Amino acid sequence: MVKRIVIVGAGPSGVLLAHYLLRRNEQYNVEIYERRSDPQTVPFSSARTIPLSLNQRGMTALSKVEGILAAVKAVSLESTGSLIHQKKGKTQFLPRKKPILILDRMRLVVTLLKMLTQQYNSDRLKIHFDHQCKQVDFEAKTVTFENTAVNPTGEVTVDYDLLIGADGARSRVREQFLSTNQFELEKKYFPSAYKPIFLPAESATSLKAGYLHTWRGTDGIFATLVHDIDGLISGIVNFPRENNPILNFSTKEQVWQFFREYLPEIAELLPESEVEAFLYRPISTILTIRCNRYHDGDSVLLIGDAAHATSPSLGQGCNASLEDVAFFDQLLDEYPNDIAEALKQFTLRRKPDAHALVELSDYTFPLSSKLLFLELFIRLRTAQFMHQLFPRYFSPSLSQLLSETTIPYSEILNFHKGWISRVKQANEKFLERQS
Ligand SMILES: Cc1cc2nc3c(=O)[nH]c(=O)nc-3n(C[C@H](O)[C@H](O)[C@H](O)COP(=O)(O)OP(=O)(O)OC[C@H]3O[C@@H](n4cnc5c(N)ncnc54)[C@H](O)[C@@H]3O)c2cc1C
Repeated sequence: MVKRIVIVGAGPSGVLLAHYLLRRNEQYNVEIYERRSDPQTVPFSSARTIPLSLNQRGMTALSKVEGILAAVKAVSLESTGSLIHQKKGKTQFLPRKKPILILDRMRLVVTLLKMLTQQYNSDRLKIHFDHQCKQVDFEAKTVTFENTAVNPTGEVTVDYDLLIGADGARSRVREQFLSTNQFELEKKYFPSAYKPIFLPAESATSLKAGYLHTWRGTDGIFATLVHDIDGLISGIVNFPRENNPILNFSTKEQVWQFFREYLPEIAELLPESEVEAFLYRPISTILTIRCNRYHDGDSVLLIGDAAHATSPSLGQGCNASLEDVAFFDQLLDEYPNDIAEALKQFTLRRKPDAHALVELSDYTFPLSSKLLFLELFIRLRTAQFMHQLFPRYFSPSLSQLLSETTIPYSEILNFHKGWISRVKQANEKFLERQS
């Protein structure tokens, strides 16, 4: 029997899932609905995009569909380590044994979409951009979308056999779970908010390509910059969500002053045009999500950020979202004729790792610079060094476990729970002092 699968959200997890489902056999027809316009037609400069790092977890999930990992690698830059910029030009280098891939989210999605549309025709695959999910009826198995194009065509309601909520941290599909029995949802704002930043590579020749560059100013302000394959340098500037120092900026001079005070090395690299663009870019907040269930009956599933959005501090959210897809595919193999059981097992077996990831992302990095530089980096370097010398006796460092292995997040949390609970306490005190 052909199953009609409706995927809400053409982000990394939704589009990769379409690949996995369509390659299984002729069993599934897939329709993807995305509220934004087709990213293949939106100019990069006006796209809301962020740089992503993909590690072993994401790469493993991408590698299971022929050709995808190679295509993604072709639009990524490899990074072999992080360079932590400290005061007075001093730096610390944290090397990586296994390189990660750096690319922006839009380029990842466009690559996945292009391959999908090249491979499958409209008999089995339909993609509707500019369609925002407005209403879901779990009983009737219908979902309603509003056309959000420049010349809108109104609403459309479609049936589904299986509905996938891949619609991100502010998921509309997940909202519908709130009307079902015993669904619990924890939504928390991460203490940091952010603005993206973009520099042409020629204005920042002092920054070496292939490294993740990070700076930590005072008062909870920090920044990351990476080169991308086209010679653009992009990154994120983070600041406290509450007592946000840039909230009411209205002039370029205020932006200059902010960078000179908190991130002086970046101030030296900033062209005038970027100062202006930074001023008018919206501030984004970060939601973290924990739920007790990712499925409803035999016909609805949440994946990716919709199920377990995390803070970006560890660069794991997209990797975990892609891992979800490979894991669901494995369950379809385990329960080929029992979709209800496959969905139920997804909740049972993925939840401990998803919850562990939220915890690890919130509390691996201390907000206090002292604890970060005097302890965490020393711990990471020592663990890396000892593991290299005596791999049978010393486990890899926390960051190696997260990005160079596919060991489940719950095992990693268990192994490092002492550090995580110390950081949790230290961060709570730090935030109390700030408020
Ligand atoms: C600043 C920052 C840096 C990050 N860095 C990293 C990193 O280095 N590495 C990493 O692994 N992760 C990183 N992440 C996390 C990563 O971006 C997410 O985990 C990942 O994008 C999740 O993919 P997704 O497909 O589940 O959701 P999303 O990427 O959020 O995609 C959801 C899609 O659904 C669409 N949508 C939403 N609502 C509706 C609706 N009602 N109707 C129709 N469509 C809808 C959206 O437009 C979007 O296209 C970072 C996140 C941030 C904010």
